[in-house]
Amino acid sequence: MKIKTICNIIVTILISSGFIPTVAGVTSTPKYDGTIGVVTVAFDHGFKDQYQPMLYMKNNNMSGTVWVVTNRSTTIHPNFIPWNQLQSVYDMGFEMASHSRTHIPEGSGLSNNTLYSEIYGSKLDLQNQRFRVCGFVPPGNHVNATVISIIKNFYNYSAEKGNQNTIDYIAQSANQNGIPFVNASGVSDINPTPSSALQNFTAVKSAIDYATQTRSYLVIHFHDIVNTTSNAVLQYPSTFSLFQQTIDYLKSKSDSGLLRVETTSQALGFGLQCELAYKTSTTSLTINSISNVPWGNPVTITGRLTNSTGIGIANETISFNGTGTTNLSQAVTNGTGFFLSSGKAPNTVVSGWKVQAHFAGDSKYLNSDSTTNSYSTLTHPTVLALSIQPVTVSSGGAYKVTGALKDQVTGTLLASKTISFKGMSPIVISNAATNTSGIYVVSGLVAPNNPGAYKIQSKFAGDSLYSGSTSQVKTLTVS
Ligand SMILES: [Zn+2]
Repeated sequence: MKIKTICNIIVTILISSGFIPTVAGVTSTPKYDGTIGVVTVAFDHGFKDQYQPMLYMKNNNMSGTVWVVTNRSTTIHPNFIPWNQLQSVYDMGFEMASHSRTHIPEGSGLSNNTLYSEIYGSKLDLQNQRFRVCGFVPPGNHVNATVISIIKNFYNYSAEKGNQNTIDYIAQSANQNGIPFVNASGVSDINPTPSSALQNFTAVKSAIDYATQTRSYLVIHFHDIVNTTSNAVLQYPSTFSLFQQTIDYLKSKSDSGLLRVETTSQALGFGLQCELAYKTSTTSLTINSISNVPWGNPVTITGRLTNSTGIGIANETISFNGTGTTNLSQAVTNGTGFFLSSGKAPNTVVSGWKVQAHFAGDSKYLNSDSTTNSYSTLTHPTVLALSIQPVTVSSGGAYKVTGALKDQVTGTLLASKTISFKGMSPIVISNAATNTSGIYVVSGLVAPNNPGAYKIQSKFAGDSLYSGSTSQVKTLTVS
């Protein structure tokens, strides 16, 4: 499929020094500040015939920005530079900006899934090629409010067609959209169309001179750069000779200290290849309230890691510390930034075990810590059984009481626990202790003299680990 939407070729020169936001920690990068003209040379799409021109630029100690369509399939375009060549020019200092996955116009009612794939998916594609990415160039400058908001979530700058070359327009755009806008001026001298802005070297030179004189920021971008006019798939083609003249002219101006040639990322203060923007992405780590659990039972910690705009960050390691985290292992965030860790709570009953989650940060994101939450470990409920043996005795006859005390959480029979008894007068039964099998027995008891039904109940008062419990009320029948 041929790329139908061509990046608009419009002469737009930014004359502004106030719309570029300050990035924390950036002090020394030579970003555009209005005191000297800055020119970025951009390569639209990353075509094969742009590779030699990129090398030519590098050989003149300059680098530019490549607007990469990340689906490099020949079904999208037959003449894309392969990834390994993009990596080699990246290693020479060129910036890789996203130009979407498939170059479809994005401002006309595409589904959110498609927009996220085109805008954010293309960034992931570039990151998978180990590029640091901070810019997005919408195909054909075709945007709407949804497109702008998605770009804003994932990129530090974007580009849009400027209808009016005024400071007000630029400032308003930056205010409304929160991202710096860069406007581009296309170059094409082969079969120029009415929309070809810079159709010959005189026009290119004039634009560069204007940027120099007005100390403005200019992006000039090239499509196909060739030495033929016969190829039907060529888009806004320029001759290699025009490109060379452009670079030579930029170099002479640059060498004379009259302007700087930079990547867009560099011009906007994000570093040559976005490294400053990339490393200063802040994160936020939240931890949800933690349910209390019986001591020694699993406690579950959940929360979420997000970027500065609330988008979840996937595949990052979350660690924990605090008094309640002894058996908690590290967690890894899922595709939407959520994490979950579960581990055995301490074996004592305490109110207010502390848990704090931590994200250590990496090459992409700054570290962050959650607030400290707490949970309590609770006593285990118990179950106490009672059996009277035999249940019917003659007056003054012998009987015994027995039963077991059990941990209702674990089913464990509990040893060395004191059991007391409540009996109808005149029955009095001394306290007993459970044996190693959790069984208590009081034998050799003497039944009352008066015939009747005598109720008996056993009781465990509870201790530091176990809740108290009482047995069912049983009846001793004296005949
Ligand atoms: Zn394009």
